[in-house]
Amino acid sequence: MIIENLPQEFKKALPVINEIEEAGFEAYFVGGSVRDIMLNHQIHDVDIATSAFPEEIKHIFKKTIDIGIEHGTVLVLFEDEQYEITTFRTESTYQDYRRPDEVTFVRSLEEDLKRRDFTMNALAMNKNGEIVDLFNGIDAINKKEIVAVGDASERFNEDALRMMRGLRFSSQLNFTLEKETKKAIKEHRALLGKISIERIYIEWIKLLLGEYRNKGIAAFIETQCFNYCPGLENKKAELERFLELDESKTIKDEETAWLLLCYLLMIEDIPALLKQWKSSNKMIQSVKVGVHQLRKRKTSDWSVDDLYQTGSEVISFVEDARNILGKSHNKAIVLSKYDELPIKSIKDMHVNGKDIIPFLGEQPGPWLGDVLSELEEKVLHGIIVNNKEELLKEAKAIRKRVKEND
Ligand code: ATP
Ligand code: MG
Repeated sequence: MIIENLPQEFKKALPVINEIEEAGFEAYFVGGSVRDIMLNHQIHDVDIATSAFPEEIKHIFKKTIDIGIEHGTVLVLFEDEQYEITTFRTESTYQDYRRPDEVTFVRSLEEDLKRRDFTMNALAMNKNGEIVDLFNGIDAINKKEIVAVGDASERFNEDALRMMRGLRFSSQLNFTLEKETKKAIKEHRALLGKISIERIYIEWIKLLLGEYRNKGIAAFIETQCFNYCPGLENKKAELERFLELDESKTIKDEETAWLLLCYLLMIEDIPALLKQWKSSNKMIQSVKVGVHQLRKRKTSDWSVDDLYQTGSEVISFVEDARNILGKSHNKAIVLSKYDELPIKSIKDMHVNGKDIIPFLGEQPGPWLGDVLSELEEKVLHGIIVNNKEELLKEAKAIRKRVKEND
């Protein structure tokens, strides 16, 4: 098969291939970008594989960066673009189900394509647009099937992450797992326990954000891979709730994905779950606050205090999640209510401790925090205006009231 009219991203990279060939080596486009041409999808990164060794690539191009030289990858900077150029390689004796013990550089394209995960990802294309299809990748793409290269069991034994990659491709591409490949996932799912959570995390989020997420989630459930992901063990029925949602409402970001997951799975201790997944503290905080608000929305509308405590970023995630859950939602109106709040945080108050202490002539103490909180509350609810003079006057009144009540 020949691709007649190469997408612009490839045309731009042709001089790179030419230079490598002029130096006497082979070079091909490989991986996801070649698959994506066949699918007529937007091309992101154009990756190149070559028979040249990393040191040879560094000789050919003026500007290079070593980004993974031990794996054979050199980044070449060429006319405002960057290309990952990776030496043909084989990987051998995976003893821990996740990392090759040894990467060997080879001069044969076939050897390189053999070690790739799925047949659709094992295509190569030369500078003339001719597709090298040694493992029937085109046929798999036409059938919309995810097929492991060679023996599926062997491939998942070598690197168990490939099982999660298969599931996320299913969600992104609307592809089905081919019979033998699916069977091998079922047999080897427990090996996911050997994979670092950071690598599973990336695939899991891509799966949830996929345009055809129900396909990916259904396969995740059917293969029981969920039983080997932290916090999702034995959550089959809860995960199935995802399948009832309208999939045409795509999940747009990671925060909304976690919000929906924690909500549908009725997770009690959200920080504990997200810590197992090694999420950032910011993510943990956003999801915790967001899920709390999502649950509160079942019985009440956004109050001024809810808006203030949640902040615009998480308000957006909550409204997006409500949309996906099929509940009434209106991000624009809720955000405009938030915008109308007199203050967005205590930092917006036009008075602070340094103003209040000398004004009242008192020694600093715990009373100060109480006064500031009361002022904040009153400004937020429009009881007093955010003006220094007014605030100092109110601070004085508060102290007077407290002392009289003592
Ligand atoms: P995306 O469009 O999401 O980037 P991709 O197929 O390009 O998808 P990458 O993770 O960028 O995925 O990997 C590039 C290529 O490297 C893949 O197409 C595949 O050929 C190979 N590859 C990546 N990860 C693995 C793996 N774990 N095992 C085998 N081959 C892999
Ligand atoms: Mg890629």
